[in-house]
Amino acid sequence: MDSKNTKKGVVPKKSGFVKKFLYAMDYLLHLELETAWSKLRDQNAKLDIVTKSMKEGVILFDKRIEVIFINHAAKKMLRLSEDAGLETVKNRIAEVFKGVDIDKCFGGASVTTPFIIPEIDAGNDIYQLVFSKVDECDGDKCKAFGSIWLEDITESKNLERQKSEFVSVVAHQLRTPLSGLKWTLHMLINGDFGEMANDQKVFVMKSYENNERMISLVNDMLAADRIESGRVKFEQLKINLRDLVENVLFEVMPNAERRKVQVRFDNLSTDNFTVVVDATKIRAVIQNLLENSIKYTMEGGVVAIRIEKLNGEFLVIIKDSGIGIPEKQKPQIFSRFFRASNAIKVETSGTGLGLYMVKKIIEMHKGRVWFESEENKGTTFYFTLPAYKETKTI
Ligand code: ADP
Repeated sequence: MDSKNTKKGVVPKKSGFVKKFLYAMDYLLHLELETAWSKLRDQNAKLDIVTKSMKEGVILFDKRIEVIFINHAAKKMLRLSEDAGLETVKNRIAEVFKGVDIDKCFGGASVTTPFIIPEIDAGNDIYQLVFSKVDECDGDKCKAFGSIWLEDITESKNLERQKSEFVSVVAHQLRTPLSGLKWTLHMLINGDFGEMANDQKVFVMKSYENNERMISLVNDMLAADRIESGRVKFEQLKINLRDLVENVLFEVMPNAERRKVQVRFDNLSTDNFTVVVDATKIRAVIQNLLENSIKYTMEGGVVAIRIEKLNGEFLVIIKDSGIGIPEKQKPQIFSRFFRASNAIKVETSGTGLGLYMVKKIIEMHKGRVWFESEENKGTTFYFTLPAYKETKTI
């Protein structure tokens, strides 16, 4: 070995085998360390670029819920200077996001499900905070215990608000002329302005039906807007869910018969499912789900509704043998104005607002709603409502 070309200096001329061996080992170790350092520096530099260029804020915590890392964006959101120490971050979070208890929020998160604060005001801005826990640490290898992901949603919330205001103004403006038109068409059909020829009557009737559809769309838009903005009042009433279902069935039956769809109610008339709900709103939910099932089921098909008792709640199941929901479109089904491609083909009328409202109303009653569906086989919608608990007095 030519010692002059080595990094670690000169090998003594008369070194023995062991010394040469140790020297070689030292040299190799040094080389390996140097490569590892260089890789680490490289990775660090990349991580630095990523965290600095991110517009979302990230804060990492250790097991004692102490801050071990904060990126550039999070510092900006918390109005901290670039050289602020990590020990100042927790206090700053409490100051900016008033009422947020970091320990409690991490307590509500698990490795698989984060704890989310969907909307929180911080001065003039609106943020979303996501508290996530990281996977189990392998000894001391992984120091992070959890993270907070901060996202500035001011712009999207303002846009949403503007959109909602726009919808509300348009819907209100449309309501009056549409009602006026309804009565004029009604009078024409009634012959109040003289008898019309049969073919004239057919056209006027068509206009009347289209006008009715517009009115129902405008009403749905206004109802959705009221729910969205939280301007909706709830009138709680103690009722038997079975009575409500029977009541709705009575109303939708003529339409089902016209479409040659069989509708079945699978509960006994003595069954009692007491709930405390806003009866008008829950009635609208059942009506919407039943009308959809009838609407999206072909001639000769079957729709069945049943209520089951679960632990502390009731489960309502509405099953049909209809067109089903395409797999790819399932995630959008509860979104505002969404209609699946196969539904548009078989039924042109529809607003895509019904299921959106169903979900909102059920969640406001502390229930859940979901569905199972296979295209061309059928769909089953499920929703739950808390059962009424009798409080015994002695
Ligand atoms: P609309 O029925 O007015 O279109 P909804 O909000 O009630 O609006 O429903 C949204 C969409 O969900 C429908 O357009 C349809 O694509 C789908 N859908 C709802 N219920 C069913 C059902 N029972 N079978 C098949 N598709 C359904």
